[in-house]
Amino acid sequence: MSDSKLFSGKRGLIMGVANDKSIAWGMAQALYEHGAEIAYTYQGDAFKKRVEGLVAPYGSDLIMPCDVSKEEDIANVFETLKKEWGSIDFIIHAVAYSNKEELKGRYVDTTLENFLHTMHISCYSFTSVMKHAEPLMENGGSAVTLSYYGAEKVMPNYNVMGVAKAALEASTRYLAADLGRKNIRVNAISAGPMRTLAGSAIGSARKIFKYSELTSPLHRSVELKEIGGTGVYLLSELSGAVTGEVHYVDCGFNAVGMCPTEYWEELS
Ligand code: NAD
Repeated sequence: MSDSKLFSGKRGLIMGVANDKSIAWGMAQALYEHGAEIAYTYQGDAFKKRVEGLVAPYGSDLIMPCDVSKEEDIANVFETLKKEWGSIDFIIHAVAYSNKEELKGRYVDTTLENFLHTMHISCYSFTSVMKHAEPLMENGGSAVTLSYYGAEKVMPNYNVMGVAKAALEASTRYLAADLGRKNIRVNAISAGPMRTLAGSAIGSARKIFKYSELTSPLHRSVELKEIGGTGVYLLSELSGAVTGEVHYVDCGFNAVGMCPTEYWEELS
């Protein structure tokens, strides 16, 4: 345990742990180091045992099923939190989904069905979660969702997920405006490519990963603990005046327009 107890007496909900590589789990570990108490949701029975196994050493009793495509699941989670805790201080939304078949090829070929489903899971769910969280954050609070640079610039194969992330970043700003008077802050972390289940669903994931490493000013990929550290900052009083922000944790990739000249050989 760290001496710093930024989260001592603070309780929050983390949505999106699938395994020990999940960004949500990296953030959970950083929050535990700072004294947080954490409740979790998992998507379905396939993930239940894995989440329970990860969380066991930390002793959380609140591990709840929640398929975010079902409004009643989200409502049940917050009813349980209200009953068990009365209030919460923070939320991490690290949930996204799109049909893998449409995370390759051309965006223009996206189907209506997958467009709507991707938007529902990857964007609307955050809005719904915040609507349910608002009454439990009477003393203020802080929420973080996860985005990617494909929201802003076209990235190969990211396709409909880029459109959903653009909408997610816009909703982060609208939610920040709606909830700011109640001292509820809402921010997004735009993370560089990570080797997770969701990350590997993007077509040519390994090459995107390598390209990002070569191009980033720091010349490497992001580590889970670095997303965790940013989560600690954005969810704590350290970032008290920060809301409606999209914060890059990408080794500087977004600052660069082209990969460095030493990788230009292939062009000649
Ligand atoms: P992950 O696969 O570990 O996490 C994705 C989570 O979404 C899983 O826990 C999965 O169960 C959950 N999920 C999907 N559909 C759901 C549903 N219907 N209901 C409830 N949960 C559902 O991968 P990750 O990379 O840790 O992803 C977390 C977030 O980070 C996502 O929003 C992702 O887009 C974002 N992100 C990832 C990267 C990356 O390169 N991996 C980069 C930037 C942003």
